[in-house]
Amino acid sequence: MLRGITNLGQWITWNPDTRQMDVGEGGSIVFDRERVGEISNHVYSGPDWLNAEGRFVSPGFVDSHTHPAFAATRELEFELRGQGKSYQEIAAAGGGIRNSVKTLREIPEARLSDLISERFNQFLDYGTTTLEAKSGYGLSLDAELKSLRAITSAAQQVPVSVQRTFLGAHEFPDEYRENRADYVRLLTEQMIPAVVEAGLAEYCDVFCEAGVYTPSETREIARAAQHSGLAVRLHADEFVSTGGAELAVELGALSADHLMAISDDGIQALAQSDVVATLLPGTTFFLGQNQWAPARRLLDAGAIIALATDFNPGSNMTLAMPFILTLAVIYLHLTPLEAWQAATFGGAKALGLSQETGSLQPGFQADCVIWNCDNYRQVPYFYAMNLVHSVVKSGQRVR
Ligand SMILES: [Zn+2]
Repeated sequence: MLRGITNLGQWITWNPDTRQMDVGEGGSIVFDRERVGEISNHVYSGPDWLNAEGRFVSPGFVDSHTHPAFAATRELEFELRGQGKSYQEIAAAGGGIRNSVKTLREIPEARLSDLISERFNQFLDYGTTTLEAKSGYGLSLDAELKSLRAITSAAQQVPVSVQRTFLGAHEFPDEYRENRADYVRLLTEQMIPAVVEAGLAEYCDVFCEAGVYTPSETREIARAAQHSGLAVRLHADEFVSTGGAELAVELGALSADHLMAISDDGIQALAQSDVVATLLPGTTFFLGQNQWAPARRLLDAGAIIALATDFNPGSNMTLAMPFILTLAVIYLHLTPLEAWQAATFGGAKALGLSQETGSLQPGFQADCVIWNCDNYRQVPYFYAMNLVHSVVKSGQRVR
């Protein structure tokens, strides 16, 4: 067990008193076993100390929106999109999520778990120490439970904190396309109770979007999940505004995610609530779109924002949070420090973990990244590069 990280260069952390990020210089982060003890002005020496040698140190990223439980990649669709086909056109021709459902239902659970643990290791490589992982490519009782069990066993293999989300309402499976109400009933009466009974998820998510789940279907599924003890998060207002953000507020969800098409009323609703606006600029980028979530208007209205990857094989094939910071600075017009705040404190808040991780406050998990650079602006500035020097998870060096 490390005693801490010493000889810091610049460091940053959320400050709950000022409700802003603090930027400090020098000293040490002293650990109390797996937690942060204090940030001290002293520099220590000895084999139990990790020496940052003057490098920039941050909290580990909290990636609050990922879809790592997939069986096969979809690079052919990537090529088609490059040739001008839209995500929706590809989905209508049997690609998209339906393509992933086919392969997920076939893959053996142990193989799926191995793939997910490889991906969890890659998250750590890029400085993510806590992540949310969704099911949602099974869309049947057996395949959704398989996905969540595979996520659970993969999480036990890798030193990263994983929070699990049941996303049986990611799409309608082909066999229920003509009788949607029956699938909603399967979700609420069988799948959610089975997931809770097996202790396989902390949250339930619904893809509330035109052509996917209507607001009233979303409400019914989310209420059933809350009744069973799961917290709710929503895919909301991604391509078309259907009132998803307002519905997230009505439901008391932890987070409303995407929001590229959020309405003015949706912005006001989020701003007056505790629901985190989770922005996923990697998806806008990877889909080749130019409709970016209105991050500045959300911030100016007073909403709390998070940044996450939306790592998934269709609409965003990266798990690198540093690149998400770059996109947030260029296209969402966040300052680098606002982007860091959203990717650490904001992500933790979106997971209901803002008293646990995402910050270097005393008592928080000792989750830190040492960077091969001098200051926080350089991480988004050196884009599409990996500047991670070391990763510490719960007080142990894991990279
Ligand atoms: Zn998603």
